[in-house]
Amino acid sequence: CSVRVSHRAAFTPVSPMTALFPFDNSYARLPSHFFGRVAPTAVEAPRLIRLNRALAVDLGLDPDRLESPEGVEVLAGRRVPEGAEPLAAAYAGHQFGQFVPQLGDGRAILLGEVVGRDGRRDIQLKGSGPTPFSRRGDGRAALGPVLREYLVSEAMHALGIPTTRALAAVTTGERVIRETVLPGAVLTRVASSHIRVGSFQFFAARGDVEGLRSLADHAIARHDPEAARADNPYRALLDGVIRRQAELVARWLTVGFIHGVMNTDNMSIAGETIDYGPCAFLDTYDPATAFSSIDRNGRYAYGNQPRIALWNLTRLAEALLPLLSEDETQAVAEAEAALTGFAGQFEAAYHGGLNRKLGLATTRDGDPALAGDLLKTMAENEADFTLTFRRLGEAVPGPDGESDPAAVEAVRSLFIDPTALDRWAEGWRRRLKDEAGDAAARRQMMRAANPAFIPRNHRVEEMITAAVERQDFAPFETLLTVLARPYDDQPDFAQYAERPEGGGRGYRTFCGT
Ligand code: AMP
Ligand code: MG
Repeated sequence: CSVRVSHRAAFTPVSPMTALFPFDNSYARLPSHFFGRVAPTAVEAPRLIRLNRALAVDLGLDPDRLESPEGVEVLAGRRVPEGAEPLAAAYAGHQFGQFVPQLGDGRAILLGEVVGRDGRRDIQLKGSGPTPFSRRGDGRAALGPVLREYLVSEAMHALGIPTTRALAAVTTGERVIRETVLPGAVLTRVASSHIRVGSFQFFAARGDVEGLRSLADHAIARHDPEAARADNPYRALLDGVIRRQAELVARWLTVGFIHGVMNTDNMSIAGETIDYGPCAFLDTYDPATAFSSIDRNGRYAYGNQPRIALWNLTRLAEALLPLLSEDETQAVAEAEAALTGFAGQFEAAYHGGLNRKLGLATTRDGDPALAGDLLKTMAENEADFTLTFRRLGEAVPGPDGESDPAAVEAVRSLFIDPTALDRWAEGWRRRLKDEAGDAAARRQMMRAANPAFIPRNHRVEEMITAAVERQDFAPFETLLTVLARPYDDQPDFAQYAERPEGGGRGYRTFCGT
């Protein structure tokens, strides 16, 4: 899998004896109380909406076979592929601050793991029927949320942000009952693992230290193999999770992403964005933005995400205490020392990201204030987050110190009071002048840091409406195409870069159940 080959050239004809997925299921080898073994429920009439062929190839799979009737039956949960050991994982979690000792995969079933080009990956069906953890749920997923997750997770990947991926979406031919009757669908999700903060909480809450240790050893083997050689491997694991999460949330902020439901069961210890339920992107910059209908107090608002990440990591550290040291005081000291690292790692990643967005290749003491002033000015003037930064890149002063007036006007037009931007830009220009490097390189750097295209909420909604109400998947395909190259100007798709009328403020999202 280490050689990059075009998917057409990669295949010698596959003999019918070869397994569809070359599974090697390490999670299924963990103790039996880590999960419930359960097969997907057969569905009526599966139909493939889309297979992510490029991802299939990266995973060492045969895309043609996955698109065949046999493959589609597997992707719909109608047929269990050879080598799969389907299971639903047990986990706990803090949901909106309240601890729930037993959650678990209520509508997701891990088929198994494959080792592809980028390492070991879980292959999981989401929406494939009830599990021992379904509680009162039906174990199913509606088409809209499946398409949203497919699109947004792939867009995040194209933006360069760690995330679970989407291998396939299928419709089931069955209906699911939510507030209305909706078409059912199944998403095949690919992840470095599905181990969550809540997975550790599950064992900690039961006082099951052996379970906790087995899970931690498994996590170290998968995500922090070098931690195994550290003086305190479990501290090293905690440090690794904290670092990945600090960097992840910083990346979210730099593209205006709001996860929407950062419960501890929705935080992957692999540092990947996971569980795209009520997620959405900022249009107008306002750090208090919370789109999710169930997030009434704005707990998971855009600007709260770093604080919540640290809160969740503190719950992880608590869960790991029995492993950090046999001495309780020492264990708490280890946990606190690890958590202390978060702020610096987050700040470095966030301000590094903002500096790149502003075209600054070096860092100076005043940079966070400079970026902060711009964000404040944007908030006061209801400026669009994505467009402001993208257009700022076009307005970078040339070698003569002058900016293209049309480009400057394009940024100014995003602000209620354009002179507020002018005042800020004076300081920005001074700062840029202090720095070596030519204008072209700076412009290139800003283009690479400031996407032109994000999954705009109104476009995502349009796409879902077309699919659900008219079985029209063309908008889904178009959006996928555009969002696969978020940093390129794509003049033919310029309208997809635009903000919605009214700046998208009244937008609401709903949990993907
Ligand atoms: P979420 O916040 O969407 O990640 O889901 C929280 C919990 O509810 C998880 O344990 C899910 O597995 C479970 N859940 C969500 N939707 C359903 C459903 N339709 N049927 C069964 N369980 C569900
Ligand atoms: Mg979840």
